Amino acid sequence: MRPLLLLPFLPALLAAQTITSPDQFFGFRLGSDKHMARWDKIVEYYGVLEKQSGGRMKVINMGPTSEGNPFLAVVITAPANMQKLEHYRDINLKLSDPRGLTEQQARAFAEEGKAVILQSMSMHATEIGGTQMAPELAFDLLNRKDEEARRILDNVIFIEVPCFNPDGEIMVTDWYNKQLGTPYEGSNPPWLYQKYAGHDNNRDAFQTNIPDSKYMAKLLFTEWKPEAYVDHHGMGPNQARIFLPPYAEPVRPMADPIVWRELAWYGAQMADKEEEAGLSGAINNAVYSGWGHFGFHWITPFHNIAGMLTESAASKLASPLYLDPDQLRGGARNMPTYDAETIFPNPWPGGWWHLRDIVDRQKVSAWATLDLAARNRETILFNAYLKAKRQTERGAAGKPSAYLVSAIQHDPLTSVKFINKLLVQGIEIQRAGKAFSTSNGMSYPAGSFVVSMAQPKMGLIRYLMGRTFFPDNYWTREKDGSPIRPYDMATDTMFEYMGVRVDPVDEPVEASLEVVKEPVRVVGEVSKSSNGYVLDGRLNDSFRAANLLFDKNVSLRRVDKGAKGLRPGDFLVPPGNEADLQTIARETGVDFKPLAAAVAEGVHNTGRLRIAMYQRYGGGNIDEGWTRFVLEEFKFPYKSIFDPEIKAGNLKDKYDVLIIPNDSTQAITGEAPPATAPAAGGGRGGRGGAGSGAAEGAAAPPAAQAAAGGRGAGGEGGRGGPTPPEYRTGLGTQGVNAIREFVQKGGTLVTFNAATAFPIDRLGIGVRNVLTGKTTKEFWCPGSTLKVTFDNTNPIAYGMPAKGLALFLNSPAFEITAQDAEGYETVARYAEREVLESGWLVGEENLARKSAVISAKSGEGRVVLIGFPAQHRAQMHSTYKLVFNTLVR
Ligand SMILES: [Zn+2]
Repeated sequence: MRPLLLLPFLPALLAAQTITSPDQFFGFRLGSDKHMARWDKIVEYYGVLEKQSGGRMKVINMGPTSEGNPFLAVVITAPANMQKLEHYRDINLKLSDPRGLTEQQARAFAEEGKAVILQSMSMHATEIGGTQMAPELAFDLLNRKDEEARRILDNVIFIEVPCFNPDGEIMVTDWYNKQLGTPYEGSNPPWLYQKYAGHDNNRDAFQTNIPDSKYMAKLLFTEWKPEAYVDHHGMGPNQARIFLPPYAEPVRPMADPIVWRELAWYGAQMADKEEEAGLSGAINNAVYSGWGHFGFHWITPFHNIAGMLTESAASKLASPLYLDPDQLRGGARNMPTYDAETIFPNPWPGGWWHLRDIVDRQKVSAWATLDLAARNRETILFNAYLKAKRQTERGAAGKPSAYLVSAIQHDPLTSVKFINKLLVQGIEIQRAGKAFSTSNGMSYPAGSFVVSMAQPKMGLIRYLMGRTFFPDNYWTREKDGSPIRPYDMATDTMFEYMGVRVDPVDEPVEASLEVVKEPVRVVGEVSKSSNGYVLDGRLNDSFRAANLLFDKNVSLRRVDKGAKGLRPGDFLVPPGNEADLQTIARETGVDFKPLAAAVAEGVHNTGRLRIAMYQRYGGGNIDEGWTRFVLEEFKFPYKSIFDPEIKAGNLKDKYDVLIIPNDSTQAITGEAPPATAPAAGGGRGGRGGAGSGAAEGAAAPPAAQAAAGGRGAGGEGGRGGPTPPEYRTGLGTQGVNAIREFVQKGGTLVTFNAATAFPIDRLGIGVRNVLTGKTTKEFWCPGSTLKVTFDNTNPIAYGMPAKGLALFLNSPAFEITAQDAEGYETVARYAEREVLESGWLVGEENLARKSAVISAKSGEGRVVLIGFPAQHRAQMHSTYKLVFNTLVR
């Protein structure tokens, strides 16, 4: 009769309600042998928990993944905190950027605020433990009634990302269930576990290309800026059971030192709790170096966040793995042998290793992080203030004091993309309303950007906008002087990758500046012309515009001989279709500039080519995934083709261009199986030579991948077990012959980086890689930017600057050996001296002045050797045009 009166009691009733346990909901204990919870069910479970949580849980759907699955962030905290969530978020943001705050105000905020802790799970989808653990962690936080749980809810706002790669989780679960009970049980899927990025999703934190990265960047870098972040991963099975913070040497400088102390602090707490729980095999301060790539857990320290990683030893997905004690080994950073150390006092003895063992260890480390934050809430919050304040002061006092991005650029639309990527990082950027000059006499037009170092993220700015040199010292050389491979790249200089001119300045900039609040959007213009229009061939986006015009069957021409203000590579658009041009100008940002007079000479008709790209199994080829991403971004239609289609031959009837992305010859031909999904690469290396990437790193160089062999595709044995016959991969002799025939009949074969060895070895292209056989002491250049000259009168380098940079990553350098070199063209060459721009280079004389890109005629067709990863991870915007130029007539 009077239901309204009951309403006020409803929350209390809900709180008292029983909470459905994961065991009840999923019908098995999470982590049980041979059981995996699938993402759609996990999403459903969080919905149930939210309803039963009595206002202690909020599930946020951040949006769809690449394949349309929901990406969740789950907030867990006491109901009183939840009701004032925006208030606490605001306090957190103020402490994270305390410019204008007094110390007294900061102390008051630290006293009032709540520690914000974010933990994410299983971004590498075969590292399944995290996502299988997450629902239980959430349940425990809601269900446990003890003091520890209460303290966490009262003092911490916990943001749980139960799955950092939902698409991959579904793929791996379905694959596992399909192989269950077959000889292939526990094997890894034969393809990439993220549509484009595969394992490289953890190399995407600074360029944020895929949706998952965008959601995480929003949570970490702008919306919440948590005090601590833990990313839960998995590593190979043979070393420690779980790696815990802090990282080992070498450290990457420029973060506030408190960050590194916090990592040690959290790591000690996690390890202590593992021992309290009687869980053996935890190691701190080993295997994973402090100078890693700019993936999420490694970039966060430069956001003043205690960014951390756990890595658990793998089982065979949900199937247990038996490890004989003899199979347990050291051989990693700070873990020379498998013996007790101060950082590893309790070695696991060997035996059966189950998914549940992983779940247990990860849950303890996740809980320990929350517990530490709850017990030390005020200290942690005040640290957030100190870190941000001191970094801002360092930035203000140091040199350079700012980085300037002029509005005048070789490709201004790409420089705007660069600015927008910096904004995603939460970096403060100012724009000049009027032209200005610096004290050293440089002038900048209106619309130029200024990035001051006097801001909390100065350390990050320094690496994304300033030249970077990887340390060459005790920590990065073996005792015999051989260099030790960096975890990933030796530099992550985004401005160099994108070909943006950035000027460091030491003196404060005096100009009328305004903070950029929204992503910068450029709308192109169409200036009506009866002679037609010009698209600037220097702009990457001119290719996007050209492809959109091809979609509308507009015929374009391309300039070959520069004259009257036209440059080789410019696109000429006929008059008419102005409404379409307007739409395309708006979408791409390119201007359709009026053509002063009709042009009849020095041009050719351009048009679309029929593009095929080789795709293989064996865990997939990450470079192939990223190439698809870039082609789709720029609207190039293409078809992915697999072994059977190639082996069937007659490729020229269907395609004009065949792309073979970065890969070893052995992986392409199938003579040796390609390395499998990198999670299995496990903790190898460390101080060791090639392949010291440890488990997290997929970035093992193609050569090392080939050497690692044995694991994937056709491989028998290995952690993943053998691969079903339909997924064994490689062209074989038949495929090689079909590709030769394709080229002879007029096709263009385009190869990237290590894949350039394939046409050299198998198609008889008269080119030699001069770096073959060099020892690492003679020549060494891991993931660095090198100075290159481009012959931009060659159609493959149309639109390129005469001088620029290439990313060198286990790349070749060429010398032409053909007896008759007619039809061989060098398109790009390494510089003569001071070749290194950023990163690490030993023995530059080995590649100085050598060719980096060669186009070689073969039969009626040609082979293009792009001797570096020109479209690497959809990050190398500066060299995209080398690829694009091979894909149009
Ligand atoms: Zn991982």
